[in-house]
Parts: sequence; C-alpha cells; structure tokens
Amino acid sequence: MRKNIVAGNWKMNNDLAQTEALLSNLKKQTKTSNAEVMVAPTFTNLYHAFEALRTTNIEVVAQNMHFAENGAYTGEISAAMLKSIGIQTVILGHSERREYFNETNPILAKKVNAALEKNMRIIFCFGEELSHRKSGNHEKIVEDQIKNALFHLKAPAFKNIILAYEPVWAIGTGETASPDQAQQMHAFIRKTLANQYGQETANNTSILYGGSVKPDNAQEIFSKPDVDGGLIGGASLNANHFFEIVNAF
Ligand code: PEP
Repeated sequence: MRKNIVAGNWKMNNDLAQTEALLSNLKKQTKTSNAEVMVAPTFTNLYHAFEALRTTNIEVVAQNMHFAENGAYTGEISAAMLKSIGIQTVILGHSERREYFNETNPILAKKVNAALEKNMRIIFCFGEELSHRKSGNHEKIVEDQIKNALFHLKAPAFKNIILAYEPVWAIGTGETASPDQAQQMHAFIRKTLANQYGQETANNTSILYGGSVKPDNAQEIFSKPDVDGGLIGGASLNANHFFEIVNAF
C-alpha cells in the first residue's frame, strides 16, 4: 500500500549555522501523523544533517544528482557519492532544475536510471506552467513529462519512485492549486500509471502535491484521496510550520 510522505525541500537556503538551528528545532518536534518525513538540505550540509537526524524518524534526502558515476563533471555529485554518506533518496526533475539548468526529460531519464542502478529512491517532480493550464494543455504536458522520463522503466522499478506533481505556477508564489484541482490531476496521473503498468502499481505509488502548501491549507489538500503527501518548499524552512504540515494527515 502506498505511503503518506511529507518532504521539505530547503533549496539553496541555510548556511551551516542556520542549518544547525533548523535541525535542532526539527529534533524538538513530535510526529503525530503516519506520514514519512524527509528533508533535503543543500549539498554542503547534507552529511551534517544526516548525522544530526540519524536517531530520528526524519530521512535526509538530496535535492539533485548527476547521471554519471564519476569523472570530469566539475561541480556535480553522483549517486554513489550520495550513497557513501548514507543518503538513500534523491529529488529529481524539480521545476527549478528544469527551468534554470535546462534539465530535459531525456536528461532526467538518465538520472532516474543512475539513481535506480544504485537502488536509490526518487522523488520525481513534474508539473505544468500557467500557460499550459490556461490553454487546457495541463494534462497532456504532465503525461508527456511522466512518459518521457519514466515509462522506459519496468513496473517493479516503481517501488522506488515517488511522484511529485508541482504546478509551476504554484511554486513559491503563494498560489496553490485548489484541493479539487490537485485531486483531479492526481487521479489523472494515477490513471496514466494504471494504463501503462496496471492498477496495482498505480495504487502503490505515492503521489505528492507541491506548490505553496502551508499549515493552513495542508489538511484540506491531504484529505483528497489521490494526494499522498506534499513536497514543501518555503514552509519547510520553519520547523514548527513544517511539522504542522506533517501532522495534517
Ligand atoms: C517546491 O519548491 O517544491 C515547492 C513546492 O515550493 P513552495 O512550497 O515554496 O511553493
């Protein structure tokens, strides 16, 4: 059965001292929901965060990785490097990676393969832009993103894949998809998975929503049957707010 998951994406925020303060506040929180909890610090603080949260039920995950195993890729980090410090899960395909670093679906497919080869879990992000939604193309865009980056995989690979639907127009804008818009898209994504891999794989795959989830809207979004959690940006930088969201299940 699929899991409920709440993951915090800290993006390029928090130096070491700020990370330490946030980690210490996170350790004071109490989880009352059944959701799995993850946080994604920046690379420089990844190992520190991993060590600090080792004894908690919060998993530390990476924000990105390269597809190559090693070699002449200045500034990049491989799956093997992440694994060597204990990281088991990586976010791939975030809209900021797609927009600012030109990550296309074929590049993401290579990253997905590299992560799976190392038996890592993937939070795979995708979502339409406002113009796509306005022109009624949002389902087609999302379907293409999923198909082109993931549908070369065999069904068993999906035990290591978590999907994160993040409409670009809702990320960091304060504008959320309405709970009904989220449910509609999540049901469409699950149907797309079922058509390709069968209902069992579709039912067992967690689909997270991301885009301006906050303590005051999390409960309503998470109450939708096909929404299995959230990928949280801004609100995850405050431990109290983040855990209000975690406990919204
Ligand atoms: C994100 O970056 O994945 C995100 C959803 O950000 P925010 O919650 O700030 O909209």
